Amino acid sequence: MKKQYDVLIVGGGVIGLACAHYLLIAGRKVCVIEKETLGSGASHGNCGLVFTSDLLPMCAPGAIRAEILRKIHGTTALYFKPIPDPGLLAWLLMFAGKCNRRHLQHAVSARDSLLRHSRWLYDKLLADGRIHCDWAEKGILMVYKDARLMEKYAGTNAILEPYGLGASPVVGRELHALEPALKYDVYGAWHHSADTHLRPDSLIKSWSTELRNKGADIVEECEVLSLEATRGRITGALTSKGRYAFDTCVMAAGAWSPGLTRPLSIKLPIQPGKGYSITMSRPTPCPEIPCYFCERKVVATPFSNGYRLGSIMEFSGFDLTLKRQRLAYLRRVAGEYLKSPVGDRVEEEWTSLRPMTYDDLPIIGPAPEHKNLFLATGHGMTGISMAPGTGKLIAELITGQAPHIDPAPYRVERF
Ligand SMILES: Cc1cc2nc3c(=O)[nH]c(=O)nc-3n(C[C@H](O)[C@H](O)[C@H](O)COP(=O)(O)OP(=O)(O)OC[C@H]3O[C@@H](n4cnc5c(N)ncnc54)[C@H](O)[C@@H]3O)c2cc1C
Repeated sequence: MKKQYDVLIVGGGVIGLACAHYLLIAGRKVCVIEKETLGSGASHGNCGLVFTSDLLPMCAPGAIRAEILRKIHGTTALYFKPIPDPGLLAWLLMFAGKCNRRHLQHAVSARDSLLRHSRWLYDKLLADGRIHCDWAEKGILMVYKDARLMEKYAGTNAILEPYGLGASPVVGRELHALEPALKYDVYGAWHHSADTHLRPDSLIKSWSTELRNKGADIVEECEVLSLEATRGRITGALTSKGRYAFDTCVMAAGAWSPGLTRPLSIKLPIQPGKGYSITMSRPTPCPEIPCYFCERKVVATPFSNGYRLGSIMEFSGFDLTLKRQRLAYLRRVAGEYLKSPVGDRVEEEWTSLRPMTYDDLPIIGPAPEHKNLFLATGHGMTGISMAPGTGKLIAELITGQAPHIDPAPYRVERF
């Protein structure tokens, strides 16, 4: 039997670390268990956007039609494995059922709450300069080659404006002065100047060092095999390194969470959404502002000593094969928008799985029938952006403090 903890957190991604951070502040004795190394899931090689203005859920009205058109025009970044999967099919049907105005309004407000507070919490988290993550306040450019499609984004912008998150359109010379790395045939961009970015791998490394210094136990290469439950309580975790005991457990295992909760009869409607990235040395010229190439859904993120291209949403289960054609897509799209799309030296080619819920809202809060199990998962494409708010909310719910945001929209009972 290992030592007794107040809280055991399953998963050493950005969400697990955020939960550990706020629980330590609340005076809890915390242990994070990670099956591989910290950040070995989706939190390592992602695009690093702290995309506070990303209020619209994937399941917005018109999303399916737009994706079908992309498929027809050969500009899609969405793929499905050819073998039918009943779980995925059910998820897709539920997703389709959420592509309506009512859900849009609900999701925009729920996403705003978590994203906005997370942005403020990042400021506090990074204020004393102990966590290093290449934080940069340069905004994000939503870049378009096609003037007509750029104009259509005005509809999205109109939804963001009441939240104070509207972007400014920048075209022609003004755009090329703002971001000289873009090709001259790029028509324009919407500049979300309030958004920021960071280097996720640096964040994980630096944040975990800080947590260890503050007393958290972080155990890597230790897989949680199962959770033991007796009479509505989780009583222990059986791991590849022995049994752990604790008062409370937080499930923050990203796309792998459903596999651990299923034996407890907790069904989490999360599908693994596979993404890819390539990290390189900085090309010349290198974008200074992160660019989202909207027609192709590829992101180029600059870091102080590197540069990353990332994208793709592939629903192919837990297969982590690095498909060369997906990486080639990233390079090809960057070549359509940037004067110098790739750096000389490739540092890493990467793939991982996003935890995707069909309503594009995370799952945060207590499990219904196991009062000492808390869920912090399902952050989809915005886990970096939503991490601090999630961690703080979990700590508040566990310690019985008044929550800083309304937890209702994130509760698992909504499914
Ligand atoms: C290509 C790409 C680009 C992205 N870009 C952005 C972006 O720009 N901005 C943004 O906000 N988000 C972005 N995301 C999404 C973001 O990466 C995820 O939402 C976020 O990393 C999820 O964090 P997590 O901690 O929940 O999951 P993960 O980082 O996957 O962490 C879960 C951890 O749990 C561990 N684990 C699993 N099972 C067990 C077990 N049985 N025992 C112990 N440990 C276990 C895993 O090894 C893993 O390390 C992107 C994702 C991808 C793939």
